[in-house]
Amino acid sequence: MVMNNGNGHGGPHPRHFYFTIDCDWVPGSQVGLERLLDLCDCYHLKGTIFFAGRFAETYPDLVRDCHHRGHQLGTHGWAHGGLEDDEDFRLASYDQQRQWIRRATDAVEKAAGVCPVIFRAPNLRIGEVTLRALEDEGYRYDSSIPARRFDMGFGRVHYTEYFWAPLEPYNPSWQRLHRPGRSSILEIPPSACLFPINLASLRVLGLPALRRMINWVGRRSQHLVFYCHPSEFLYAKDQVFPRAMSKWNQWGMCPANLSLVEALIDSVLNLGYAPVPMVNTAPRSVDLKQPIISRVVGYQSDHA
Ligand SMILES: [Zn+2]
Repeated sequence: MVMNNGNGHGGPHPRHFYFTIDCDWVPGSQVGLERLLDLCDCYHLKGTIFFAGRFAETYPDLVRDCHHRGHQLGTHGWAHGGLEDDEDFRLASYDQQRQWIRRATDAVEKAAGVCPVIFRAPNLRIGEVTLRALEDEGYRYDSSIPARRFDMGFGRVHYTEYFWAPLEPYNPSWQRLHRPGRSSILEIPPSACLFPINLASLRVLGLPALRRMINWVGRRSQHLVFYCHPSEFLYAKDQVFPRAMSKWNQWGMCPANLSLVEALIDSVLNLGYAPVPMVNTAPRSVDLKQPIISRVVGYQSDHA
C-alpha cells in the first residue's frame, strides 16, 4: 500500500508514471507530435518516444528536437504504420527482426546523435526471438509485453500468451517472455486492465472508466505506462494511412484529444504518480562517422 503525501510523490515507494509516445510511420502525423511536445513542456514532463525508423528518417529535425527537449528516444520497428502487411515481430525471422531494428536504430542515431536502447514492438507483437535480436543489437529495455491485455476483437492485441506476465518491470526469460529470467533486457510492460491504458481507450471509454482501470493497475503495480500516437491529435483526412486500416482505428482522431490527455495527466499526478524516464542512464552519444555495425559491437563489449 502506497501512501500518497499529496504532492505528487508517494511514500517510500513513489508510484512511477511513464508517458510514452509511439510514432508510427504515418505521413502527416508529425504535426501531432509537435503538439504533444508542447503539451509535455507545459507539464515539464519528460516522456519516452518510440520512432518507426521511416518516421525518424523523414523527420530528423523533429527527432533531434525530442532529444533536446529532454525526452528519451526509442525505436518502434522500421516502416510500421505505413504497410498493408505490417511488420510482425511475432512471426518474422531473427535476421529480419535484426534488420528492422538496426535500420530504425540507425535512423534515430543519424537524426539525434544518440543511441536508442529501448524498443516497443509494432502492435505489441513480440516474441522470444525479438528478445535475442534486441540483446544482440545492444538494446537494454523493452516496453511491449501486453500483460493483462486482451482487446476482444476491438484493438490490436489478440493473443494471450503473455497475459500473466509481471506488471512490474522484470528481466524476461529467454524461453518464456512472460516469466522472469536472465535476459539483460529490462521489460517495462505497457499497462492494461484487459484494455490498454492508452489514448484509444481514453477516447472510447472516457476518463472515469480509465481512472478505474488505472486504480486497478495501481493496486497491483507501482508502475503505470501510458501511450498515445501523434496521429490521434489531428484529423484522419490530413494523414496517410494504409488502405487496409480500419475506419474504427481512424475514428475520433482530432486536435481536441490533447485536452483528454491533459485531463489524464492531471488525474495521474493527483493519484501520487511521479513521471519518470524508462531509461535511467544518460543517453550514449554516437560517432556518426563510424559504421553502425562497429558501434553495436562496441556497445556490447562495454555492457556485456
Ligand atoms: Zn505503433
